[in-house]
Amino acid sequence: MTISSLRVAIVGAGPAGIYAGNLLADAVNAHDSLGSVEIDLFESLPAPYGLIRYGVAPDHPRIKGIVNSLHEMLDAAQPGALDQSKGRRTIRFIGNVEVGRDIALAELRERYHAVILATGALRDAALDIPGVDLPGSYGAADFVAWYDGHPDVPRTWPLDAPSVAVIGNGNVALDVARVLAKHAVDLRSTEVPDNVLAGLESSAVTDVHVFGRRGPADIKFTPIELRELGELRDVDIVLHDEDFDGVDPASASNNQLKVMLRTLNSWRGRESTGASRRLHLHFWHAPLEITGGKRVDGIRFARTAPGADGAPVATGEVREYAVQAVYRAIGYYGTRVEGADFDERRGVVPNEQGRVLGEPGLYATGWIKRGPVGLIGHTKSDALETIGHLVSDAASGVLAEPGVDGDVLDVLDERETEYTTWDGWLALDAHERALGESHEHVRERVKVVPRDEQVEISRPGVLAR
Ligand code: NAP
Repeated sequence: MTISSLRVAIVGAGPAGIYAGNLLADAVNAHDSLGSVEIDLFESLPAPYGLIRYGVAPDHPRIKGIVNSLHEMLDAAQPGALDQSKGRRTIRFIGNVEVGRDIALAELRERYHAVILATGALRDAALDIPGVDLPGSYGAADFVAWYDGHPDVPRTWPLDAPSVAVIGNGNVALDVARVLAKHAVDLRSTEVPDNVLAGLESSAVTDVHVFGRRGPADIKFTPIELRELGELRDVDIVLHDEDFDGVDPASASNNQLKVMLRTLNSWRGRESTGASRRLHLHFWHAPLEITGGKRVDGIRFARTAPGADGAPVATGEVREYAVQAVYRAIGYYGTRVEGADFDERRGVVPNEQGRVLGEPGLYATGWIKRGPVGLIGHTKSDALETIGHLVSDAASGVLAEPGVDGDVLDVLDERETEYTTWDGWLALDAHERALGESHEHVRERVKVVPRDEQVEISRPGVLAR
């Protein structure tokens, strides 16, 4: 049976959910046997954009710029913006609604032909070593959420440690190390919230040590992000020759790595400039234990070397560093949705190319589908695969008609859920931009941090639903 009006709920309004919504609208539009599509995009936060708003570092405006294209995608899908001849696509943003708490996944499943999970991965992966729970040991995701003004984390962050360790050799480790090492004054023109700037201004940090458990040829950084470290004002980069034994840029497995190994090599010969802060890059260090009585006072590592299969093996040597804080940047962990199956080990919803196993009509896309790896661009190709399957299922009659009619907003109204809308976001966006313009250091926006304030500014838009 052909579906004349396909109803789809997407859970999560980060890049994964927005790309999926946009691709779905286009795909239905282009499909001969499918009529219109109505998409409801649910988000647990009052504002859209997920990790672009709350995960990208404030001094990375290039990546933040993706917000503009995501904004255009959603804006173009608003009913008022539609050209009648193409008026077959709507994406309705429904923010401040947590699926699994404010409305059950089962309730969505009975109201929509299909539900796409795009909840991403917001928490830190666990690091199972002694001392990991000591005060002064932090997950990178929490620190990132703090400096990006996430509404659900404390407003203050202890930055009293002169020496800190950052564990991990991915881009999140670089973000954390850079934000810690950079002088706050150099972040002033970014959209960093004022409380964060004040916190960073009072930071006691002098030495940031980044530790990889494998070698320089195993880094998961990207070239631009790595190169940026070497350009930080009043920060010396420190490397150790012993870590580079046998590392030859010419034999790197790909061009990106070749470029990065050259960058690292060029820093090895650098003389100290006497900078007031230092950023040390250590390799072949696998974390063993975070030490301290009442709070972190050090960290111990097993010195490693490449084993027969290339995996790092402990050499038997243990190294200790006196640090007063440890940041764990060893990867994110998927955000489960109450009511959906979850693979605890991988932190993903079990699926085959985006079709959730054993659950016709339920799909996954983005990091909750494939795990927390890959750049934002990969999320688009990922969504293409999931949407391809959804559209083919819709066209071939696999999707059941929703059992319950009626607008989900009526249910939320009945429950007095203070949901936000696209118009509400436009109001909040305009408010934040106005704050930015009038700020003493003019900037693109000043984020409103507290959730209730965001909701208060956004809610008048509800009337225009
Ligand atoms: P990632 O790229 O997967 O890096 C995780 C790092 O943690 C790896 O170096 C890994 O080492 C290490 N690690 C994992 N378990 C460990 C353990 N038990 N002990 C010590 N080290 C451990 O993850 P990410 O940095 O969280 O980044 C996630 C994704 O977001 C990536 O695709 C990243 O490029 C992207 N991202 C991009 C940007 C940007 O473009 N500016 C910014 C942030 C994030 P092994 O390699 O040995 O496993």
